[in-house]
Amino acid sequence: THFGFEDIALRDKQGRVNRVFEEVASNYDLMNDLMSAGLHRAWKSSLITELSLPRGARRFRLLDVAGGTGDIALRALKRGGPGVHVTLFDINPAMLDVGRARTKEAGFEKRVEIVEGTAEELPFPEHSFDAVTISFGLRNVPQMDKALAEARRVLAPGGRFFCLEFSTVDVAVFDKIYDTYSFKVIPQIGKHVAGDEDAYRYLVESIRKFPPPDDLAHMMRTAGFERVSYTPYTGGVAALHSGWRL
Ligand code: SAM
Repeated sequence: THFGFEDIALRDKQGRVNRVFEEVASNYDLMNDLMSAGLHRAWKSSLITELSLPRGARRFRLLDVAGGTGDIALRALKRGGPGVHVTLFDINPAMLDVGRARTKEAGFEKRVEIVEGTAEELPFPEHSFDAVTISFGLRNVPQMDKALAEARRVLAPGGRFFCLEFSTVDVAVFDKIYDTYSFKVIPQIGKHVAGDEDAYRYLVESIRKFPPPDDLAHMMRTAGFERVSYTPYTGGVAALHSGWRL
């Protein structure tokens, strides 16, 4: 076979990720509140503000990679004007089903396109979007460097990429509390609320393995993004990175 050990490890990771989100899809929105103690709402709201969506009829095409149940898509459609069109993209059909139902119920059916696939190989031509977002998604993608290069490729020149993700806590005392919360409290909540301790344990581990903010910024520059910067949220529990395709 032409698959090396590395390919097998990558496919293993993706398989595990897919099982986790398949399991949690119907509980996903509750899970988000629990994992971030409700803070993801404020962080996502800041991300939407940074997008500077047109309020009028000007066309604006947003691609939300690893968009899951459509949280970012819905917020962007609610905040922006009628020219805002969103492509909700995810590898997991169970998550997308929830996203389809939510965007339809909110009356945005005509301005949302739902596409299934992997962030490592986006099925869109170069220069297709004015902005690309990935929110709590990048850490789940086995080949992050590929996902970053793909996000840049599909952006139009002058377009901007945003990555919202859990990050590295930089306040010592807070760090201890955060450790206890992540390794003890979250898996227990997962067990009682979603009946799935392992899935939540995976989520906590994936957060810890994610590159610290300066390393992620470096990866983004390597992928070709310019004017890369980041803003820590809530003492570094999360961070918003951004970069431009110029
Ligand atoms: N963006 C949403 C949010 O902020 O609430 C959902 C984030 S959820 C924690 C992570 C999502 O990443 C899941 O829906 C999962 O299916 C998706 N995902 C995992 N691996 C992926 C890949 N290789 N390509 C695209 N999406 C992927």
